[in-house]
This record gives sequence, structure tokens and C-alpha cells, in this order.
Amino acid sequence: MYRLSIIIFVIIYLSLPVFPQVLPENAESISGFSIYETVDRLASEEFRGRHTGDRGYTDAAVWIAGMFEEWGLVPASEEHGYMLPFPIQYTIINDASMSVYIFDEGDESGYREVVLEPEKGFLPLLYSDSADRTAEVVFVGWGIHAPELGYDDYFGVETEGKFVMCFRGTPDPRDRRYQVHDEHRTRMQRAKENGALGLIYIYEEPIANPNGDWIENFTPVKISYAAANMLLEEKGFTASGLRSDLLKYKRPISFPLKSKVRIHVESDHYPEATGYNVAGFVEGSVPSLRNEVVVVGAHLDHCGTHMGLLFGGADDNASGSAVVIEVAKAFAENRIETERSVMFVLFGAEEMGLIGARYIVDNFPERFTDITGMINFDMVGAGDGAFCGYSAGHNELRELVARNDEYIETVQSFYPIGDIGVRGSDHAAFHLKGIPVLYFVSNGPHIKYHTTGDTIYRMNPSVLEDIARIGYLSAIDLGNK
Ligand SMILES: [Zn+2]
Repeated sequence: MYRLSIIIFVIIYLSLPVFPQVLPENAESISGFSIYETVDRLASEEFRGRHTGDRGYTDAAVWIAGMFEEWGLVPASEEHGYMLPFPIQYTIINDASMSVYIFDEGDESGYREVVLEPEKGFLPLLYSDSADRTAEVVFVGWGIHAPELGYDDYFGVETEGKFVMCFRGTPDPRDRRYQVHDEHRTRMQRAKENGALGLIYIYEEPIANPNGDWIENFTPVKISYAAANMLLEEKGFTASGLRSDLLKYKRPISFPLKSKVRIHVESDHYPEATGYNVAGFVEGSVPSLRNEVVVVGAHLDHCGTHMGLLFGGADDNASGSAVVIEVAKAFAENRIETERSVMFVLFGAEEMGLIGARYIVDNFPERFTDITGMINFDMVGAGDGAFCGYSAGHNELRELVARNDEYIETVQSFYPIGDIGVRGSDHAAFHLKGIPVLYFVSNGPHIKYHTTGDTIYRMNPSVLEDIARIGYLSAIDLGNK
């Protein structure tokens, strides 16, 4: 027995690595727990859900700019320092309530009232104007008015002074000509032009959404399938049945309901606010190349605090922001010198339609003559591995990541990013200008997307660490390519 245990001990001892694995460029200095702590703070009440324009967002931006300064990053702008301003409008929903009045002949009043629960049953779009109105509802399919395509959900129904109710989507998801009609902004405008008081979007879950324009005297909301089913009951329809019929027949199905809703919203709209991109860089070591720059970025903003509900956005996108912050810190502390400059950017107003990223692409700091590539992180905290997108045709980017992943072992699959339908996150603003991009997202599931449930408790420090390390190594390689 004694001798056997010695042998086992020796076998185990010899199978252990003599030294912990040494990663290139001191990448082991990047710590998942440090990133996790940053996510925790960014997603906390202190920053009020980081709604661009709101002081919660600006406070977070100031905090990060302070760290960039402490680490000796060069401010991106001679005029503005680390905080690059851009104009933005935003809205805060202070209070809201909603009731459905189900048509019921058996009831004395003719109606049965059901009060919907905030977030679970209904949620205003995060740009809804204030109003308190009760009116009938007209179902209008996808809410699309596209005479040039011979398709009109508003044909033959009277919507003046009523609420219109519809799904997000189009009759033919593969037909790109419908894409502009599927933008929230287009759909809201059509409803307003047709005299509607507001638009009721049917979603399985009414998730938060600030991606649209405030329209005076117009109250868009989302309701759950369950709430929509109550309204549709008088016709014997269900939301899921109507949706599949719309997709199957590709023809408008529009009709008025006797049932009513009451929508009450109290909001404050700020038409002339300021958003910020936070940006600092490490200067390239080769004088002839330092005017070329690699951008390492993530969106800092999320959906804010409304009706007392904190949308903290731990995964979306405190996670990606914290990864960029940690990579910036590692560049500074490890004194990384790349031939080209490497700039770290926290974008504002991604949730409102990539506004911050588009702004910086169009108003890029003048000292830089060329953007070599852009690496984006969006939702990198849930799960245990990564997916990596790269600009189609740029196989060298995919190979660069794959080479570094031999050390990290976190990328589960690669996919090419094309021009069509690329609107997912900030890298799209760069990709559409012909700049090669890499995009990291964790494998999820991201099940609490845009709800109050997107909290620190679903974040995994080890996936944060792996994705930050591979982003760090990839940024160094791009800076030297
Ligand atoms: Zn996001």
C-alpha cells in the first residue's frame, strides 16, 4: 500500500504543470474578478441604468475618464479631453399605468377592467409622451403602410383617435425592402399620421426600448401576449395565432375591437441634452504609423431608470464596458507598445440606434488618418464561451483571433459579418464605412435582455476574463499587424 501511494503521488505530481501557463504579453494580469467588480458598480443604482443624456450616464462616463487619466492614456480630443460630446434627446418615464377594458356583454357596464402589471404586463416605450386617455383599439397587423410595395395594414380601418395595436416584424422577413418599415421610428410615424393616440406593440415580454423618437401627444407602449389575448378574446383570436397567420398569408389582417385600453404616462422629455463617448489612447511606437489607430470599444449606455424600475444592464453592456476598461488598464500597466496607436472607446446612445458610434466615426479625432480595425464587445458576461464575428472577406482577422485562442480557448464559433442587416451593435457603424471589425459576444443565454433581471447575478467572472484576454491579445496583434 505504502509503495502504491508513493507511485500515485509521483504520477500526480509529474502530471501537474511545473509553472502556471505563461500567457503572451502578460495577459494573466487581466483579472475576471476585477472586471466583475466594475460590472457590479456600473450596473448599480449609482449610475441609474446609464441612459444617455441622464446624469447617471454622465457620472459613469466621468468615472471612466478619471481612470483613463490615472493610467496615463492620452485624451482623444485636445478640446474636450476624454469626454467627446454629441447632441442627444432622451425621455424619462416617471410613472405609468395601463388597464384593458375587455368587451363583455354579460357585464352591466359592458366592460371588464384588468389592470396590467408594470414590466410584466406592459411597459411604455422609453420615449413616450405624457397623456392619460381611454380609447378603443384597432389591430393593424405589422403596422406597416408601404404603398410602394402594395402593402397597407391601415387600409380599410378607421384609426383616428384610437390606439393601434400591432407586432414588430414584416410580412416577409427575407424581403429587404420592408426593412425601413420595420424601424420603430417609421412605424410610430405611420401610426401618428393615421391619427392614432399611441401604438401598442405586442411582445412576448414587454422589454425596455429607448430606440425611437419622442412624438408630441403620442404614447407608444409594449404589452405581453397574455394582455393582448385579453383584448383579442372578443374575436376569438390569440396573439400567436394572428402572428402566424400574418406570416403565412402575407396579407394584411386588420380589424377594430370593441375592447378599450386606458394608457396613462407621465414622462419628462429632454430635447437638447448631451451624450458622451469616452475615449483615450496609447500612442503608437512607430512615428510613421502612430496616426493609424485600432479602436477597442463597447457601449456604456443602457436603458435607464423608469417608473422606479432600474434597468441596470449588467450583461448589456456593463460587461463589455468593463472588459474595455480592463484591457485599457492592462495596456497601461504592462506598458504595451504597439506600432500603431490603440484607442479605447466607451460609446454612448447605442441603445438609441448606434448614435454615439456613428457620431465618432463621422467626427473622428483629426490626428488619426486611418482606422486599422475595430474590436467591439457587447454582452460578454453570460455563459462560458464566446462567439466571434469578423468582417466578411477579412479572414486574416479570424486567423489572428484563432491563433490567440490557442492560449485562451474560449471562442466556440466564428461567423462573417456582411453588409446586409448589420445593425446589431456599434461595430456596424465602423463596418459600414469599410473598416474591418471584430465582434465578441458571450454564448449566453442572454435571457434577461432589456429587463430589470439583467443584473450582476447572471455574470460569470471567468468568461469576462477569457474574453478580455483574447480582446487584449487581438488588439496588440492588430496594432502591430
Ligand atoms: Zn448592447
